[in-house]
Amino acid sequence: MKHLVLCGCGHGHIFVIKNIKEKYPDIKITVITDNEYQYYSGMYTGFLEGVYSHDEICFDVRKVCEKYGAELIFDKIVKIDDENKKVIAENHTVDYDYLSINLGATQKTIGKGDNVINSKPINTIIDLKEKIKENDKNILILGAGASGLELAFVLKTIYPDKNVSIVTRGSVNMEGFSDKANMKARKLLKKKGIKVYENKNVSSIDEIDIDFDKLIMCIGSSGVNVDFGNLNTTDKNFLISDEYMRISDKIFAVGDCVSIYKYPNLPKAGVYAIRQSPILMKNIAHTLNNEELESYVPDTDPMQILYCGNEKALLYYKGFTLYSHLSFVLKRYIDKKYMKY
Ligand SMILES: Cc1cc2nc3c(=O)[nH]c(=O)nc-3n(C[C@H](O)[C@H](O)[C@H](O)COP(=O)(O)OP(=O)(O)OC[C@H]3O[C@@H](n4cnc5c(N)ncnc54)[C@H](O)[C@@H]3O)c2cc1C
Repeated sequence: MKHLVLCGCGHGHIFVIKNIKEKYPDIKITVITDNEYQYYSGMYTGFLEGVYSHDEICFDVRKVCEKYGAELIFDKIVKIDDENKKVIAENHTVDYDYLSINLGATQKTIGKGDNVINSKPINTIIDLKEKIKENDKNILILGAGASGLELAFVLKTIYPDKNVSIVTRGSVNMEGFSDKANMKARKLLKKKGIKVYENKNVSSIDEIDIDFDKLIMCIGSSGVNVDFGNLNTTDKNFLISDEYMRISDKIFAVGDCVSIYKYPNLPKAGVYAIRQSPILMKNIAHTLNNEELESYVPDTDPMQILYCGNEKALLYYKGFTLYSHLSFVLKRYIDKKYMKY
């Protein structure tokens, strides 16, 4: 029996665990991950505000593995030894025939400190409300992309009496949203009393000349702190895959940890990780069955819905922008449908 080892239990691997045995039943699956829960970031800010419960926004990895007959090892992976086909974690070394990597990403940062909070990976800020203390008056978010804005909107909703501000290099710039939708977001920030300090190119925490008690980093991703051995990586330690989600003929990768050679500028967002998942699952099965592989072709203009607190959201789709409760209702429907899957 072939042994498929899944490194990390992100969105792609949840899908593989649930579906691959339909396509290739005779397989042993081992999952190695460092977290009991796989959080769905699309519902994270709703969870912070109390719109969703903890169980509504995550998959319980142990339960998923038990239900679909995958072995589970909780450990931190430190190295992939592709020459000897081994995954090396802090307390285990596991041999594989086929390997898939879904380890997410880490926070790009400009410094560390007791009052600095990284927003990636999402499990590290699931307890954000415990990190923000009663006497923290000034919350500053570094970065005016979608995650920075969503956090700002929701933190201001939760803490109307605190100063929530954003500092950014250029101006408000959510990838995948039009200029008009970004402009709408700017107006909303102003209306809600969230100050945006634009055109501040800070490269270290000392350079920030705005008062803050907590600084939240939302300035994009870096690769995970794993030694990928001989596998192809970018200078930020993202794995480089082909459009079949393959790193080599027996190694696959999916989600934030990968940069697809043909599409190097794809945003690091859950929506892409989720849409790559069926292609990953099928191509692992196709490889095992000696069948032709399927290409992943990204939707370069997907619907974007930014949660803005108080059960309202900003929707952008193919030139159309709508800030309303209805946008939130649509987002909730899509998100809950994904979590029920
Ligand atoms: C505040 C915030 C809001 C966001 N909102 C959205 C949104 O609304 N829509 C959207 O599309 N995207 C959003 N994102 C981005 C989204 O969170 C990521 O793009 C998405 O989670 C990536 O999925 P993934 O499956 O690649 O990795 P992840 O979901 O990060 O999963 C990686 C898995 O690998 C495990 N792992 C990592 N390192 C190791 C290791 N060394 N050893 C063992 N296991 C390991 C982790 O525990 C985890 O199980 C948001 C991000 C943030 C920070």
